[in-house]
Parts: sequence; structure tokens; C-alpha cells
Amino acid sequence: EAKRRGAGRVSLASAALIASADRQVHLEGQLREALAKDGLTLHFQPVVGVDGTVQTAEALVRWPHPDRGMLAPDAFLPVAEQGDLMRELDRWVLRTALREASTWPVPNGKPVAVAVNLSGLVPGDPDFVDAVSNAVAESGIAWDRVVLELVETALVDLPCKTMQQMDILVAKGVRFAVDDFGTGYSSLARLKDLPAQIIKVDRRFVSGVGNDPSDFAVARAVVDMARAMGRSCVAEGVETATQFHVLHGVGVDAYQGWLFSRPVPPREFRAVLALGPLHVPRAG
Ligand code: C2E
Ligand code: MG
Ligand code: MG
Ligand code: MG
Repeated sequence: EAKRRGAGRVSLASAALIASADRQVHLEGQLREALAKDGLTLHFQPVVGVDGTVQTAEALVRWPHPDRGMLAPDAFLPVAEQGDLMRELDRWVLRTALREASTWPVPNGKPVAVAVNLSGLVPGDPDFVDAVSNAVAESGIAWDRVVLELVETALVDLPCKTMQQMDILVAKGVRFAVDDFGTGYSSLARLKDLPAQIIKVDRRFVSGVGNDPSDFAVARAVVDMARAMGRSCVAEGVETATQFHVLHGVGVDAYQGWLFSRPVPPREFRAVLALGPLHVPRAG
């Protein structure tokens, strides 16, 4: 009797496993199709200078899923990873983001740069330089409007060939950003050799800068180091005026977060740009 119940439980468990594997395969198929048919979409989030001027916009991928509504990257990037679709997804985002950037208004005389996250199509890939170059050529935007964001973990222990690929693009004006800085394992010594012009302080350190002494210490150390190495420093996930003031106090160069704007669809982003600088909270 107990044995039979046990057996039943096992087959129930494996049924659930099969169902979830099925769902995964199904989702992967849908994602493949979405990629092939322009079924993904990009939202753009401004990165602003101390005066509220939009300097850059980060492209963040979304999937308007037929039955599940708008899916955030967390919900489908692992599926892309699993299904070996990450390179193709990055390619699509790169092309689409640069093309979109070519339509942005230039109200202040200085065109806004576009930042693209790369996790599949990364330096070291034999196709990397060509893929970026083709996307730039296709869009017609200037090289120096392109920022490529790579996570710290992708940047540990770079072979020489990989650095050379980065150097080729940097020589044309492309900038590289180390994303989520502080969460990976790359040593400061490595960072010194890296052709990355921008350091993005991860949200988890930004959130505590106003009240957690160790978060404040990390943020200040990263900014000091960035400055000493001649890099520019962006804080991500800035949600409150207090965070902004503290970060400004330690010398952060640019700010990204809900305090200024959520990531918004392309049309809305063009409207944001047309309005001019974003509101910056006053000190005090
Ligand atoms: P990330 O590159 O660090 O992007 C910043 C994330 O923080 C975004 O989440 C953004 O919506 C969110 N964020 C921005 N400001 C605030 C804020 O003030 N408060 C809070 N709580 N969150 C804020 P999102 O769009 O869900 O993207 C998550 C991650 O997925 C990204 O982290 C990036 O690693 C990855 N990702 C997004 N789009 C792409 C893409 O097109 N290609 C690749 N390869 N990865 C992407
Ligand atoms: Mg990013
Ligand atoms: Mg980040
Ligand atoms: Mg982050």
C-alpha cells in the first residue's frame, strides 16, 4: 500500500518535471520565433549627467508574450541561454537599438549615445568586430555614440586576442562599460588593463549609500578608483534624491534610475529627449 503510494508520488513528480521541461521547450520555440519575426521590443532608460542632460540611453529588452503579457529579461534570458539563442538575441538588440538611436532628436546639439548589453555576442567571438561594425554601418550613427556593456564576470582573464578586438572598436570611438561593477570577481589590477572607459556601480551598492556605511564605502572606493584610472563612473538604480546627493558628493559622473526615468518604449523615449534635460533634485 505504502509502496504503491510512493510509486504514485514518483510518477507524479516526473510528470511535473516533464510538464516543466515541455513548457521550457515550448517557450524556447516561441522565443526563437519571436527573434526571427521582430517579436521582441526594446525599452530605453536615460543615463543623465549632474545637470539632468541625457547623455546615454540603455536599451533593455522586453518580450511582449502573446499569453503572458510583457516579459522582463529575467523571465526569458535564461531560456535564451539554455536554447543557445543568446548570440542571436544580442545581435538583434544591437541592430535594433542602433537603428532606433538614429531617429532620436538632438535638442542640445550633442547626440545621445546608446548602450547595449551583450552577454552572448562578446569580445573574443570571431564575429564580434564584424557584427558591431555592420550594426553601426547599417544604422548610420557615429561610432562614438555606441556603448557596449559587459558584465564583470565576462571580463576576468581576457586573452590577448579578445583585448585586441576591443581595442579595434575603441580606436573607432566605441566605449565599453563594465556593468554591475562590484558583483563579480575581477580584481582591480585586471581593471587597470581593461579597455573599458565606463564603470557602472551595481544597484545593490547604490541602494544603501544613504544609510549603510559599507555600501557608501564601496561606492566611494569605486568612484575614487575609476577617477584614478581615468574612467567615468555611472551609478545604476538611483531611486531617491538622497542617493543622488550622496553619489554626487563622492563624484559620480552620471546617473541612471527611477528617480529620473523608468525604462520607456521608443516613442516615449523620443518624447523625453525632445523635452530637454530631466529634473534634478536640489540639494538640501
Ligand atoms: P542591467 O544591465 O544592470 O540593467 C539595469 C536593470 O535595472 C534593468 O532591469 C532596469 O530596468 C533596472 N533598473 C533601472 N533603474 C532602476 C531603479 O531605479 N530601481 C530598480 N529597482 N531597478 C532599476 P531589466 O530591464 O529587468 O534588465 C535586467 C538585466 O537583464 C539587465 O541588467 C541586463 O543584465 C539584462 N538585459 C536587459 N536587456 C538585455 C539585452 O538586451 N541583452 C542582454 N544580453 N541582456 C539584457
Ligand atoms: Mg546594463
Ligand atoms: Mg547594470
Ligand atoms: Mg545591475
